[in-house]
Amino acid sequence: MDTILADIEKIRAQFPVLQQHVNGKPLIYFDNAATNQKPKQVIDALINYYQGYNANIHRGIHTLAEKATKAFETTRHSMQRFINAKHAEEIIFTRGVTESINLVASSYGRAFLNEGDEVIISGLEHHSNIVPWQIICEEKKAKLKIIPVTEIGEIDLNGYQKLLSTKTKIVATNHASNSLGTINPVKEIIRLAHEVGAVVLIDGAQAAAHLEIDVLSLDCDFYCISSHKMYGPTGAGILYGKKEWLEKMPPYMGGGEMIKDVTFAKTTYNDLPYKFEAGTPNIADVIALNEAINFIQSISKEVIAEHEQSLLNYATKKLSEIPSVKFIGTSKEKVAVLSFVIEGIHPFDVGQMLDARGIAVRTGHHCTQPLMERFGIEGTVRASFSIYNTTHEIDELAEAVKRIVNFMKP
Ligand code: PMP
Repeated sequence: MDTILADIEKIRAQFPVLQQHVNGKPLIYFDNAATNQKPKQVIDALINYYQGYNANIHRGIHTLAEKATKAFETTRHSMQRFINAKHAEEIIFTRGVTESINLVASSYGRAFLNEGDEVIISGLEHHSNIVPWQIICEEKKAKLKIIPVTEIGEIDLNGYQKLLSTKTKIVATNHASNSLGTINPVKEIIRLAHEVGAVVLIDGAQAAAHLEIDVLSLDCDFYCISSHKMYGPTGAGILYGKKEWLEKMPPYMGGGEMIKDVTFAKTTYNDLPYKFEAGTPNIADVIALNEAINFIQSISKEVIAEHEQSLLNYATKKLSEIPSVKFIGTSKEKVAVLSFVIEGIHPFDVGQMLDARGIAVRTGHHCTQPLMERFGIEGTVRASFSIYNTTHEIDELAEAVKRIVNFMKP
């Protein structure tokens, strides 16, 4: 059943964390949508930097500083190619998607939103693509509008079109939902927004490790990625922004590196991308992110997607055979996220019982409380799959869920 079974042990061997037992059982890691595991080459890049050439970047002229600066900027160029951006300076390093969205909401919002303007987000959003917009809308007396979500967990495109008007200034939505896995028709969403003159931000947290990302073809204005969801370290990520917008936007944070010249009377800001990179950045993690990109490209996104889709199909079939399991989010186009509830059993209890068998899943609202409310539930059990998972592990999950259902029967 595994599409690349011949290679899977070789792939698994690259992930030291997978080689362990949890609660006496071999670890089965199905919490990949929260953060996925790191291959050895990423971990080695962190060690090599701290052991070999730790130095602050851009400022020093000594050998270590130059080596660190070069490695840091190499990631910028790799990321540019990874998402097909036109210019390297359109890649801004941040701490991750949350910071990237806050940067745009704050900087773009402060400069371009006015009273009575409208911001549209979807009902499928993570809290990090809701709250920053609430904050700026409140400040600017702008209105936040929500695209409805259908019964199978898709964006309602008709509902979206009804919300669009010349008042719309920003549309923000995810490329794929972390709670349900739904892949959103972002190209169409962007096209429709541009017709009314709005800019579009895409939250790519759940897309970066699975879907081809081509910002030029998408024509999005902003695209956000977290390193830790694409085999890279935590604490790093990017904001892609079209140069024409980034140049017009005011700085998000002030400090070292983002300036050209400072006097007490006036400060002039640095060129892109440094205008948005105040202070010492997360040098080690950005450098190691390059190895995460190399890892993905060594397998190819196509193979990764094919493997993950086969796991998703297999898991959907296996779990659908268990009475009282109900899936939440059944769109045809999904990344490998399977969210479900079990009648009469709290998701938290399911999570705990699975953990006792060495199976790591996520339970709860997945930082999407409004979406849970849409489905009239408190939360789900979420199993999300990655390149190193196997059908054997899914058999173990299905077996464990069956036992839980039988054990908890009234
Ligand atoms: N958006 C989505 C869809 C996510 O899945 C996540 C992480 N769960 C975020 C945003 C926030 O990402 P981060 O915590 O890396 O900033």
